[in-house]
Amino acid sequence: MFVVMAVGASEGEVNAVKSHILAEGLSPYDHEGTERVVIAVVGEIGPRKPVLMSRLEALPGVESVTAISRPFKLTSREFHAEDTVIRVLDATIGDGSLTVMAGPCSIESRDQLLETADGVAAAGATVIRGGAFKPRTSPYSFQGLGVEALRYLAEARDRTGLPVITEVMEPNQVDIVAEYADILQVGTRNMQNYSLLTAVGRIARPVMLKRGYGATIEEWLMSAEYIVSSGNPNVILCERGIRTFETYTRNTLDLAAIPLLHHLTHLPVIVDPSHATGKRWLIKPMALAGVAAGADGVMVEVHPRPDEALSDGEQSITLDQFAALMAALRPVHEQVRDLHGDPVLSGAALRVGDTSKH
Ligand code: PEP
Ligand code: MN
Repeated sequence: MFVVMAVGASEGEVNAVKSHILAEGLSPYDHEGTERVVIAVVGEIGPRKPVLMSRLEALPGVESVTAISRPFKLTSREFHAEDTVIRVLDATIGDGSLTVMAGPCSIESRDQLLETADGVAAAGATVIRGGAFKPRTSPYSFQGLGVEALRYLAEARDRTGLPVITEVMEPNQVDIVAEYADILQVGTRNMQNYSLLTAVGRIARPVMLKRGYGATIEEWLMSAEYIVSSGNPNVILCERGIRTFETYTRNTLDLAAIPLLHHLTHLPVIVDPSHATGKRWLIKPMALAGVAAGADGVMVEVHPRPDEALSDGEQSITLDQFAALMAALRPVHEQVRDLHGDPVLSGAALRVGDTSKH
């Protein structure tokens, strides 16, 4: 449930509501809207719900108390109607602009990363990606350069001015990765690694949470809830394909997840056509489709010489292909942005929607 404070409620009234929630053994999370403070009440509420709702409603400065129907609370659109906008260095994610995260699957050397970073930055990327700690299916595959790669990433940020994102695989790597990276990525295999989610929830860096390849949208949002309830509101969701019976593509890109997520949650949504398809020639059509479906941006793997890549070469595009992709994405993004003014695809329909439908 959440408590909506009256416009102009005093700090004392807000604190009294929070103390009441704490005295019940529950946790208050406040969120300052444009006009008023809204306080979510989370924890095991159980059968005391109706009594608690009327008690909170009776407190001074409280305007109303509303139940949240979803199992995910802080990440729900019901609690937090406005889009979450994430600012990191000069980049803004989730404000209607087009976010493009690009770079190699793995950082293989300083030269390889810097050549890629300079190329994608010149073509218009807004975030540089690169794997330092790699979750590989085979223990015999290249596992990443680790901390050495984090230093190259920091160098890429310094010369391009763009924020950098990289994956963190274990709770004990969170501090070192956060020292070098501007955005931390939790990969598909770790979407339900709860100790990692809690650890990235405690740091002052945005986190991009990739969808587990076998996870439902609700499970994914419950994982995002772990991060937000641990204290980190800056979560980005990344649809990267799910495993189905189809074998021509590496995974199946769930495009419907994009408008569905905008309906269910206020968090920004990025689409990753590289891991979703596993095929270089499918990146462009699927990136365009993701942006057309309303994604806040894309993440793509780029390598100067994909045939020599130590990981995911078959799904990596060249620098020239990346420049062509940017040129194709921009007009589609512009058009979709204009469509948001349309009553059918407007913020109200696309982002908030009719909650009775599912
Ligand atoms: C990646 O983005 O480097 C990656 C390993 O992706 P995923 O976790 O989606 O497989
Ligand atoms: Mn990869």
